[in-house]
Amino acid sequence: MKSYYEILNVPQNATKAQIKKQFRKLVRMYHPDVNSSVEAEEIFKSINKAAEVLLDDEKRKSYDNLRNIQNNNFKQSSNNSSNYSFSDLFKYTKYQNYKKTKEKKETPKKGKDIYLDVNITVQEAILGVSKIINIAQSSICPKCKGHKFANSQKCSYCNGCGEITKARKITVKIPPSIKNNTKLRLKGEGDFGQNGGENGNLYIIVKIENNEDLTIKDGIVYYSAQISPYRAVLGGNVKVLTLWGEAVIKIPPLTKANQSFKLIEAGVYNEKTRKKGDEIVNIIIQTPQNLTDEEFYLYEKLEEINSKKTNAAT
Ligand SMILES: [Zn+2]
Repeated sequence: MKSYYEILNVPQNATKAQIKKQFRKLVRMYHPDVNSSVEAEEIFKSINKAAEVLLDDEKRKSYDNLRNIQNNNFKQSSNNSSNYSFSDLFKYTKYQNYKKTKEKKETPKKGKDIYLDVNITVQEAILGVSKIINIAQSSICPKCKGHKFANSQKCSYCNGCGEITKARKITVKIPPSIKNNTKLRLKGEGDFGQNGGENGNLYIIVKIENNEDLTIKDGIVYYSAQISPYRAVLGGNVKVLTLWGEAVIKIPPLTKANQSFKLIEAGVYNEKTRKKGDEIVNIIIQTPQNLTDEEFYLYEKLEEINSKKTNAAT
């Protein structure tokens, strides 16, 4: 059996640079692209294996140690015929390594699953929605086959990552009446499998965005409508949000804070009764901000009138 030094045709004390130079020379001679003979293929494999060990400081050190032990053993075994264990062990290790590379190359491997959160609104959770999402699917690099190196150099196709990532847009259909944190499975939309292995799955975790103004409790929809003090006093149109979109309600003059209004059949659709439930609109009166001098003046005026009115009454 040839040693790695013999395979690369370099002396045992060769420097890394010398080994690298010699390795490149041999690669140019035996690469399958330039030399299609069966022998060349075998040689190409063995020079790669030899370079892998000799160009790695740690691997080279343990290889040299192993060789020293073996050589000593051989010297002994010429006097002692029963001592053959190291040579067997070496063969066995080689076989195991061979098996490992073979398995690594040929066993079909399922692609990894992808998990992705998708945020939806309360309305979308009730009504269902189609969302276009961007995913990054990974697959093994077709050039270096995941080894990160090709022709003893960093693979240029995958930039030495061993895998490539493809961006894709996928339409996810979220069914109506979905609950928060529901996991939807899209079969085969995960990372690509290797060696004919199945693709992984894509899991969508549905996150319903918290909307403080629009909430649902026990099938009834609640909406908080923020209105100005003058709208509360004068009454009039107020924009509200329902599951089905925006709507306008008319509130009476002198509407109080926290007063509520019922919107019949503006809520959740009930499969059994085939009717929509109600929505309760709760009135929140907001203090206006960023008032102009004129507005402040008018509020002062209002206060003045009000205090005159109170004094007159007492
Ligand atoms: Zn590559």
